[in-house]
Amino acid sequence: MSPATGAVTDALRELHSRYAGDGQGELADYIPQLALADPGAFGLALISMDGHLYSAGDAGVPFTVQSVSKPFVYALALSLLGLDEVSRWVNAEPSGEAFNAISLERSTGRPANAMVNAGAIVTTALIPDTPVAPRFGRILDCLSRFAGRRLDVDEEVYASEAATGDRNRALAYLIRSTGPLPVDPVAAVETYFRQCSVRVTALDLAAMAATLAHGGVNPLTGDRVVAEPVAAQVLAVMATCGMYDGSGDWLLRVGLPAKSGVSGGLIAAGPARFGLAAYSPLLDPGGTSVRGRLAIGRLSERLGLHLMHNPALAASTVTLVTTADDLPAGPQAERGQPGRGRVAVAAAQGALDFTAAERVLYALDEAGTGRTGAVVLDLVRVTDIDTVARAMLRGGLARLAADGRHTAVADPDGRLREPGEEAGSIRSFASREEAVAACRATASG
Ligand code: GLN
Repeated sequence: MSPATGAVTDALRELHSRYAGDGQGELADYIPQLALADPGAFGLALISMDGHLYSAGDAGVPFTVQSVSKPFVYALALSLLGLDEVSRWVNAEPSGEAFNAISLERSTGRPANAMVNAGAIVTTALIPDTPVAPRFGRILDCLSRFAGRRLDVDEEVYASEAATGDRNRALAYLIRSTGPLPVDPVAAVETYFRQCSVRVTALDLAAMAATLAHGGVNPLTGDRVVAEPVAAQVLAVMATCGMYDGSGDWLLRVGLPAKSGVSGGLIAAGPARFGLAAYSPLLDPGGTSVRGRLAIGRLSERLGLHLMHNPALAASTVTLVTTADDLPAGPQAERGQPGRGRVAVAAAQGALDFTAAERVLYALDEAGTGRTGAVVLDLVRVTDIDTVARAMLRGGLARLAADGRHTAVADPDGRLREPGEEAGSIRSFASREEAVAACRATASG
C-alpha cells in the first residue's frame, strides 16, 4: 500500500470492520437464486475523479447489478432520445412507494420515475431494438463502458428471475393497458430481467458511479460514455428517487445521489468528487443493503460529503488585490516610475466558474486607489475557466474599459480568449509584469 493514500484505504477499512459484524437484514428471496448469496459478503470501493481506486473487503466479489442498472439504462435512453422525449413516457417525481409498486400517474399511466420498476421497464422499452443493434446489446455495451470493462450476464440469476418475475410482467401489462406507449413493455420486461442479471463487483459499481460524478467520462478509461448534461440529469433523478420511498430521508441524512439494488449493491456519487459503492446482500425491509447504508451514511458524515454542505467552496479564488507599486519589482523594474499611472492588480487562481468569477469581478471593482487608474487581471495561476466565467470576466473588463479605465490581462494560456478567437479585443500578456508595464505605458503615453 502506498503510505500517503493508505489513509483513504484505512477510512474504508475502518468502516468495513465497524459494520462487518452487523448481521441485520434478510437476503432477497423472491428471486430464488439471490437467496444463495453469502450473507457475510461485504465490500466497499471508492474511485476518485483522477481514477484513483480504493477498496476494502469483498470489493472484487461478483453479484448481479439488479436495480443499480436503472440509472445507467436511463442514461442510455436520455442519450439516444433526449430528456423531453424520455419524459413523455417516464416522469421524474419521487413515488413515495416501494420499488415494485404500481407507481403510475392516474390520468396517463406514465410511471413516476425511472428508478422504480414500472419506470425502469418503460425506460428499457424505449431503447431502440434493431437487427444491427439489438436492445440488450446496446444496454450491455453501455453498462460495460460505465464500468470500464466488458461485463456479462449471470444466466442462473436471469433464469431464476424469468421463472418468478410475474409481478414485473403484470406491471408491464398494466402499463400497456393504460398508456399509448410507442413501444411494448411486455416484450421489454424480459430484456429488463437480463439487464438486472448483469454481473458486477463493488469496484465496477464504483467506476459506474464515478463516471456519472465525472460528467459522463469514465475516470479509469477516459471514455466519454454519456454527455455531461445527461450525467447531471441522471444524478438528479438518483438524488430524488434512487432510494424509493426512503429517498427524502437519504438525501436529508446522507446527501448523495444514490441507487440501491436487491442483490445488495448500493452506489452513491459525489458530483465532481468520487464514485462510491458497497456490496452486502443482507437487506432492510425497503430492499437496501443494511451494511451498505450504514457504511455510506457514516462515510458521508465523517468526510463531510453531504451535497448541501460546501463551506469551503472556492474560498481562495482571489489571491491578491493590490497596486503594482506594492509588488516586488519584476524583471522590468516596474517600480521606477512613482506616481505615474498607478496600476491596480487582482490575481485569481484555480478553476473559475460562476461563483469564482463573481468574486474576481468584485475584486476588480475594489482594486485601485479611489477606483480609478489602470487595472490588471492576473490569471497566470488559473487552471480553468468555464464558458460562464469567461463571458462574465470579458463583460466585466469591457465595462471597466467603457468606464474609461485601462485594462490588461496576464493570461499566458489564452484562457480568456473565446474558442477560435485570435488576438481579441482584450489586451492580453504573458506575465503580470508585462501587463502592468503596458498599462503604465498607455496611461503615461
Ligand atoms: N430485478 C429486480 C426486480 O425487478 C430488481 C429490483 C431491485 O433491485 N430493487 O424485482
